[in-house]
Amino acid sequence: MDDVLVAEVVFNLPLERPYTYAIPDELRQLIQAGQRVRAPLGRGNRSVVGYCVAVKAADSAQRKLKPITELLDRDPLLDPRMLELTRWIGERYLCGWGQVLDSVIPAGVRRKSGTREVQSFVMSPNAEEKLGTTRLSRQQQAVVDVLRTSTSPVGAADLCERAGCGPGPLTSLRKKGLITAIRIRSDITGDELTSFDQQTDLELNEQQQLALDRILRPIRASEHETLLLHGVTGSGKTEVYIRAIREVVSYGRQAIVLVPEISLTPQTIRRFRNRFQSVAVLHSHMTDAERHWQWQQIASGGIEVIVGARSAVFAPTPNLGLIVIDEEHEPSFKQDSTPRYHAREVARKRCLDEKVPLILGSATPTLESWLRAQRNLDTLVSMPDRVAGRPLPPVLIVDTRNDPRISRGSSIGRAMFQSITSALKAKGQVILFLNLRGYSPTVWCRSCGAGIKCPNCDVTLTLHRDRMAVVCHSCDYETSPPKTCPTCSSPAVRFIGTGTQRLDEEVKNTFPEATVLRMDSDSMKKPGSHDEALEKFRSGEVQILLGTQMIAKGLDFPNVTLVGVVDADTMLRQPDMRAAERTFQLIAQVAGRTGRSERGGRVLVQTTCPDDPAVKFASKHDFIGFAQHELAERFDQQAPPFTNTARIILRGLDEVRTRQTAQAVAERLRSARQGATTAVQVIGAAPAPVIRLRNHWRFHLRMSAKNHELIRELWQSVEKSLSLPDDVEFAIDVDPINAR
Ligand SMILES: [Zn+2]
Ligand SMILES: [Zn+2]
Repeated sequence: MDDVLVAEVVFNLPLERPYTYAIPDELRQLIQAGQRVRAPLGRGNRSVVGYCVAVKAADSAQRKLKPITELLDRDPLLDPRMLELTRWIGERYLCGWGQVLDSVIPAGVRRKSGTREVQSFVMSPNAEEKLGTTRLSRQQQAVVDVLRTSTSPVGAADLCERAGCGPGPLTSLRKKGLITAIRIRSDITGDELTSFDQQTDLELNEQQQLALDRILRPIRASEHETLLLHGVTGSGKTEVYIRAIREVVSYGRQAIVLVPEISLTPQTIRRFRNRFQSVAVLHSHMTDAERHWQWQQIASGGIEVIVGARSAVFAPTPNLGLIVIDEEHEPSFKQDSTPRYHAREVARKRCLDEKVPLILGSATPTLESWLRAQRNLDTLVSMPDRVAGRPLPPVLIVDTRNDPRISRGSSIGRAMFQSITSALKAKGQVILFLNLRGYSPTVWCRSCGAGIKCPNCDVTLTLHRDRMAVVCHSCDYETSPPKTCPTCSSPAVRFIGTGTQRLDEEVKNTFPEATVLRMDSDSMKKPGSHDEALEKFRSGEVQILLGTQMIAKGLDFPNVTLVGVVDADTMLRQPDMRAAERTFQLIAQVAGRTGRSERGGRVLVQTTCPDDPAVKFASKHDFIGFAQHELAERFDQQAPPFTNTARIILRGLDEVRTRQTAQAVAERLRSARQGATTAVQVIGAAPAPVIRLRNHWRFHLRMSAKNHELIRELWQSVEKSLSLPDDVEFAIDVDPINAR
């Protein structure tokens, strides 16, 4: 009876082990794993918020623990399965469990979790009529503006914050009958969830049916299996996903579909909303209140399908049936800040624990996924043909080294010029892809030969002519274009290379009769502009669409008869182990935008490296050949996916101290190797490829081994005793894909 209970608590710190606290009597009946608590931490007994991760009986040695001071949540924020998943992420990605929890649980959920119901507001049903005849104060108008553009009810506090007012205007608007107060509960449906016109299923072709049959096997057997759906662009993968999800939904279960953030377009969302009754969309631009609301909806089980970017892998579905990751090769599935998890690996772990299948879909799978399928760890499901027997478009490699137009400074070579001309003449549409935004991607001094760099970063500045500025694409530093070189004061400053803005100008001048539209992150800042631009292209109002990655994905316009890759070298020349893989992926994705109707289509790729294997294999649409070639190279270098790596980045304001710290960490790791961990290679320390970023010097080192466990063992053996100077920070990136 006199059992003493203790709580294990983790904090938002890079520490792996939980702290143990005594549970005061008054909290004994209330505390559960998954709730937040306040507890004294460290010698100064600072009161810090942490997460209770376990409640258990104390052993005799634990009678004199510090007690928890406050319990912050009435209900757990996470169920035991999600708690286990977050623990695993900390272990797998070498960061603190508390850091993972802090990142995974949306801020809005944490803040409002203490109350079951949140006072929220929506526009009243007949408000639009009344608005015409009602005079509003400036603040009242601001409140109305927020509510009219919001897709779900907005919590009172959030509404005041966004409208920049106190609670007064809310009360008066309510009295006028313009807005309605509601208590958010799971049974309320906002317009995010209203169903769209439901479309019936399309008929599957034989290839799609075979793929679906294979996917349904583990779904029907309630087993975990990872299936790599390798389908060429235009093979109809989405329809296969939808049918698999339909099966899962028919069992009363939920499905999560992860797509790259850049593909989370209204078109993509519509494809799911047209086919399922309740679809939730999770993206990075949601307000805290919207996210909280969605989280509750999902947790209540009222949502069939969750479509979202990376972090949707944590959607709290009570009865998960399937996870689909579309375009699994996209680097954005890896988080670039702590916890640096890869959504694919988190999904794999979650599906394994919940005994449900995982589908990884791509026309160009990562070599990591491909190798697993080759080794029969995952199941390969192939869709090598396009729907309706349409051929993949012919890809022509154009060597631009002696091109007369290019040597005169144009970016459109002779072959490309002729192809665009004839495509336009035949009333076809054209897509031009260029991976560099801005006007001129390099600012350079002809006198001293130095590239003109950002003062905060080791990155050359890019000219943006539309706002007459040079900009750093790493830290957003911006200044007016220099008239003289900052190094030698010579006036011979040149702006070289072509970004999308300059291409836009050139294409407009070269084809004055055509309407040209540019799509990149600079021109598509306004909400809705993306949809609007694509609509103009779809309707035929625009003949030439040019842009960055934004136009490389998912677009399906039957009238596109020509796709041009303006400069394949920009991807190929990156100092990155994955440069060839990325080049292959991009050419294949861009090529996938044409030849989707009986009109056919072709692809032109301009390069100065026509013999590069990535370019050659891509021109033949030969993913398997490319994968074999590239895997052989990686094997020779003992690089991933044949080894696992972890990168440690040290950053600090003082160059010498940062370098010395990096060297000291590398030495510590080398000398700590013993037993099995002698097989861990420690490479470096060396300057990071971008040695300065946002004013910080950066040095890195790398651990490489046959498996993660060896790396973890070595890291943990030194981590606790590492003492870094106060002004040097470290980050650890397991399975890094960002080489900067
Ligand atoms: Zn100079
Ligand atoms: Zn910068």
